[in-house]
Amino acid sequence: MTQPPDDSGAPDPSGPADVAVIGGGPGGATVATLLARRGRSVVLYEKAQHPRFHVGESLLPKTVPLLEDLGVHDQVRAMGTFKPGAEFVAPKHGRRQVFRFDQALDPNPGHAYHVERASFDALLLNNAAANGVTVHQRTEVVSAAPRLGDSVLTVDDGIGRRTDRARFVIDASGRDGLLARKLTNRQPDRMHNTAAIFAHLRGVSRDNWGLDGDIAVCWFDQGWIWMIPLPDGRVSVGAVCGPEHFKRRRGSLEDFYTETLQRSAEVWEMVQHAERVSPVRGTGNYSYCADRMYGDGYLLLGDSYCFLDPVFSSGVHLAMIGAQSAAAAIDRLLDHPARGARLLRRHQKLVEGDLKRISWFIRRFNTPALQRMFMNPRNLLGVRRAVLSVLAGDTRHGLNLDLRLAAFRLFYWLEQRRDPEQSPAAIAPPEPAE
Ligand SMILES: Cc1cc2nc3c(=O)[nH]c(=O)nc-3n(C[C@H](O)[C@H](O)[C@H](O)COP(=O)(O)OP(=O)(O)OC[C@H]3O[C@@H](n4cnc5c(N)ncnc54)[C@H](O)[C@@H]3O)c2cc1C
Repeated sequence: MTQPPDDSGAPDPSGPADVAVIGGGPGGATVATLLARRGRSVVLYEKAQHPRFHVGESLLPKTVPLLEDLGVHDQVRAMGTFKPGAEFVAPKHGRRQVFRFDQALDPNPGHAYHVERASFDALLLNNAAANGVTVHQRTEVVSAAPRLGDSVLTVDDGIGRRTDRARFVIDASGRDGLLARKLTNRQPDRMHNTAAIFAHLRGVSRDNWGLDGDIAVCWFDQGWIWMIPLPDGRVSVGAVCGPEHFKRRRGSLEDFYTETLQRSAEVWEMVQHAERVSPVRGTGNYSYCADRMYGDGYLLLGDSYCFLDPVFSSGVHLAMIGAQSAAAAIDRLLDHPARGARLLRRHQKLVEGDLKRISWFIRRFNTPALQRMFMNPRNLLGVRRAVLSVLAGDTRHGLNLDLRLAAFRLFYWLEQRRDPEQSPAAIAPPEPAE
């Protein structure tokens, strides 16, 4: 059953779907596709009309096998720019350091892509439809009452409201978190309360950076700045800063964006003659996690469940690999409801492991000790390759990875003792291996 992404919006005449998916971003489109491929009837509701703007343009290598599995790798390669690694720039240390993905514990694939999310997300959603998902765009789920076997959704397609039913509901509605906000307690990350301001520029000087396609991440006093080379010579440039910086804003968002970039001499040197070719956008207060991932007849996926600071470009990857293990668990749960809790617990453990491995670095990203270690990477006990694996999204690499990460945490703990003042997160003793 293949339907175009924007169908009539009429209720599904064949009765309750096996699964209703709220949201057609990377998480929702992927879980819907994988469930449909397993023979499940899946209805996906997306409140926007793709292609639509979305921030989050830099992908990770370990997403590439999943893109291949979904059958969209060739199109992503054609629409994106090649990303072989990440460059970190620490002006205080007078150094820049490139991390190449092909030196990770698993060197394959040794690259990823930067994409314009509007086209990337539309591709994944069209692919979901081509795989048999019933896709309703411009259709917002306004409320949902999940219950295993008989969940009720109220949807609004702009013409009117109707009630649809499904056996299971996946909330992949991103930061909106329709079910997450209603059924769980979303906890903001108090230790990492950053916000972002970003735009696309044309004419950015790439004399010192980005010719190979790496993302550049540049520390400055207020936080860090990303530079992502997009197709057609555009560069996505965004700053992630603490709340005290955003409180200083007086004038327009555009002026504040320029003032923010001027605070980094390294970045300003590259962007001062560039032309802004998109609106300036901002996102506030943005790291959080729900206090539960699933319940009776529902699961939270991707940003709906948890959002990490994007410094390692992990959001799309986490949403998509989360979708992979979620699809397997929900497919089995629909046949064996009694085993549902165990299946979802196993999925949750995988996702929590991914989040934990990445967030350890994020929480310490602005500490002098981590900056020193990133600028002078040593491979004692293979820790450099382990860090590269995390940067590549290879967070499900087993004991081989976890032992090396434990060694890295120990080295970090020793390193940070050289600094007089540290945040509580930074001085916590090293955690044991998983
Ligand atoms: C400043 C910033 C920079 C980032 N940079 C990166 C990066 O470089 N790389 C990276 O991988 N990630 C990055 N991210 C994170 C990335 O954007 C997200 O993690 C990713 O998009 C999550 O995918 P998702 O499918 O969970 O949600 P989304 O992509 O947000 O998709 C959710 C969808 O649900 C729809 N929706 C919402 N509510 C409803 C409703 N009630 N009914 C129907 N539809 C609904 C929305 O319209 C949307 O299309 C960044 C994020 C921020 C804030």
